[in-house]
Amino acid sequence: MNEILNLSINEMPGLTFQCSCGKEHSFSLSGMSIRPGAIADLPQMAAPFKAGTILMVFDNNTYRVAGRQAVELMAENGFKLKELLFDCGDSILIPDEKTLGRILQEATPDVELIIAVGSGVLNDSVKFVTARMKLPYIIVATAPSMDGYVSDGAPIISNGYKYSPQAHLAYGLIGDTDFIKTAPQDLIQAGFGDVVGKITAIADWDLSKKVNGDYKCDTCITMVERALEKCFSTAALLKDRDPEAIEALFEALTITGVAMALVNISRPASGAEHMLSHFWEMDYIARGLDPNHHGIQVGVATPVIARFFEEMADLLPEGTAKLCPHHTEIEKLLATAGAPTSPKEIGIDRELFRQSLLQGYTVRPRYSIMQYAKDQGRLEMIAEKITADIYD
Ligand SMILES: [Zn+2]
Ligand SMILES: [Zn+2]
Repeated sequence: MNEILNLSINEMPGLTFQCSCGKEHSFSLSGMSIRPGAIADLPQMAAPFKAGTILMVFDNNTYRVAGRQAVELMAENGFKLKELLFDCGDSILIPDEKTLGRILQEATPDVELIIAVGSGVLNDSVKFVTARMKLPYIIVATAPSMDGYVSDGAPIISNGYKYSPQAHLAYGLIGDTDFIKTAPQDLIQAGFGDVVGKITAIADWDLSKKVNGDYKCDTCITMVERALEKCFSTAALLKDRDPEAIEALFEALTITGVAMALVNISRPASGAEHMLSHFWEMDYIARGLDPNHHGIQVGVATPVIARFFEEMADLLPEGTAKLCPHHTEIEKLLATAGAPTSPKEIGIDRELFRQSLLQGYTVRPRYSIMQYAKDQGRLEMIAEKITADIYD
């Protein structure tokens, strides 16, 4: 029972175990290699698909970082390759109809595997398209920027609206820390922000079980909490790209992904802090602006949600409050890694912020502290108070 708690991360693929939550969990990823120099494992991971064509997808940045090397390695090993390069200049690639459509156009019937070289957007886009086409994909990670590498959800944009349809798990993950440690600082901070968000995600999950009767898995929570502890203990070294700190960050992101895959929901990773982030992002996209990185937004949203827990302290079920540290402590943690600590600092304006507190709970049908505040008739009071505290 709970065997996964005794395994190192690279030992987790293919595991099935009986969990103390009452369910049987399995992690059906076929291969995972997280280590310095892991790119060398790519040809072997892709070997079962050698008879067909392999489509490799990157953008200009990820091509430079790891794509070129991945292509050379695959070509040297006799694979038949096609390449799709998104040339997006200085702007951010958006996982919308256009991006998904381009991948679909290139995924001709002879393609048997897609290899995505990148992080958030490329991973989500290729994950979504391959799920719809029932094709396997391998992700070669280029940044420790988010937790979706081994999860089965794919947050994409449809008609300007962000949603996270169920897609599928990657066939394999290459997490070469030699590439990952060269990621731009803002992506490292984003990944750290996404990890910090797990604090309120777990508190929300606990609340939803106790108040709303939702399912919860304590084994997943233990896994994530251990990874958080390791990551937070080296946070101050992220600014110097310390290899151990980067590896702990990437591992925390990946472990959260494993936890999501085990329970087939994003609860271990995502609570009300993600709803605020999605709300802001949709507003930016609607106005034609490039949104902030997902994890940067999640990071600054986390102390905001911690304030909700503080304001609701007298109504929280037993044991929930202790899962969420004081908002000032979370801000300190973000600052340790050099990440932004406030929505104001990243350009979220006062009215958008206020609206997100009032309506954020409608972003997805998931019980959270915001829904609880709404049900208890306190949402407006709390929203006005937090907005005034931060902006006035
Ligand atoms: Zn996230
Ligand atoms: Zn379980």
